[in-house]
Amino acid sequence: MIRLSVLALLLAAPLAAQDPAAAIDFAKLRDETAERLSEYIRINTSNPPGNELAAARWLQQTLAREGIEGTILDTAELGPGRANFYARLPGGGAGKGIALVHHMDVVTATPSQWSVDPFAGTIKDRQVWGRGALDMKGHGIIQLMAFIALRRAGVRLTRELVYVGNADEEIGGLGSRTFVEKHPDLVARIEYVLTEGSDTRVENGEVRWFGIGVGEKRTWWKRMVATGTTSHGSVPLGDNPVDRLVGALHRITAWETPVRLTPAVDRFFRAQSRDQTGEHRAWLADAGAALRNDRGRAWLLGESGRNALLRNTITPTVLQGSDKTNIIPQEASAELDIRLLPDEDTTAFRRELERLIGDPKIRLESIGDMAPRYDAPLDTELFRALERVARRLLPGVPLATTISAGATDRPYWTAAGAICYGIDPWLVELKERRLSVHGNDERLSLENIEYGLRLYVETLLEMQD
Ligand SMILES: [Zn+2]
Repeated sequence: MIRLSVLALLLAAPLAAQDPAAAIDFAKLRDETAERLSEYIRINTSNPPGNELAAARWLQQTLAREGIEGTILDTAELGPGRANFYARLPGGGAGKGIALVHHMDVVTATPSQWSVDPFAGTIKDRQVWGRGALDMKGHGIIQLMAFIALRRAGVRLTRELVYVGNADEEIGGLGSRTFVEKHPDLVARIEYVLTEGSDTRVENGEVRWFGIGVGEKRTWWKRMVATGTTSHGSVPLGDNPVDRLVGALHRITAWETPVRLTPAVDRFFRAQSRDQTGEHRAWLADAGAALRNDRGRAWLLGESGRNALLRNTITPTVLQGSDKTNIIPQEASAELDIRLLPDEDTTAFRRELERLIGDPKIRLESIGDMAPRYDAPLDTELFRALERVARRLLPGVPLATTISAGATDRPYWTAAGAICYGIDPWLVELKERRLSVHGNDERLSLENIEYGLRLYVETLLEMQD
């Protein structure tokens, strides 16, 4: 494990002389990045309403000063004050492009709960403070400055580099969906997308693993509706939809959904094994074997987070029947929060669910849309490049492939043909992340900005022939 204090030494280590990154003064770039982030935070893009057009204009001006042309897109489709943003650095080789993608909107903030103005872009105590510092303006500006740094260093790109800012990730994902739908020509040039959606774990000053986000569980919400015959509760007719619903709910909740270990989850558990001792360590190191052993299986599934990574889950939440004690209703319903493994076959799953319900007077209705499937391959050139860079920046830290329970824009990019990975361009304590992302006093340290710049610059250089 690596102590955070060691990071300062690693960042100061000189790079090999032939390395184009050696031409980059990372300390200077870091301070400049902090200034740009401060300016970007001052553009209030709280969603709703978003106001991403102002952010897109600022990105366009910032790149124009470097001689890079950026384009503001999709203003008509996204509505007043909203936009997507696109820029690129052409590459000379045959390989397709790499897109650095962020969302320009942020969630709202309650200033009275912050120790600084969330939209002032305050830089103090060697940190940049403000809404979006982590989610995800700080990430977007690290991407922007890595993009600019490669241009300034005159690096001969063989792969095209693309920079994208999307609107509306925090509410509906309308920005990314519109972008991939309206610009198939631009998307076709992109092989890889790097964006948010990882979990590089830092606890008590120790980096436990470097995470590459490779999948998302899919939200598949259903309403189960039972119909019957309404009548007075004093003389039941034997066709009460509440009885029928309760019976079906019982069959569903008693169902132990099959356990399945995907390669990404296997690798995630392996990265965690170092933190354990004895048989727990062995079980995490080889989850496949552990699942074939009763005690190992019970231990793995006994922890709710691991259980959710190993199977589809079905959680009944909202219930509705009659609103009067003495009236048997015509209908009764239950809402099910269903989360499927990233690669689940939804047709087969639905068939199994209907078989369990086994009642022709109960129907399943969909609640909302289901996002496309997102599970990225682990054996790609970019994955291996990230692995090499992480090993250099964080020696001895294991690499974990993470699956997130939350939603990002990655499924839409994946559906459009890109291979997407989520990374964290910083080492932030889990506790601090949980309190500040979508919470209060969100901030990013200068040291982390420098780490993020190196992570991006070195990874992008690894991808040039
Ligand atoms: Zn985000």
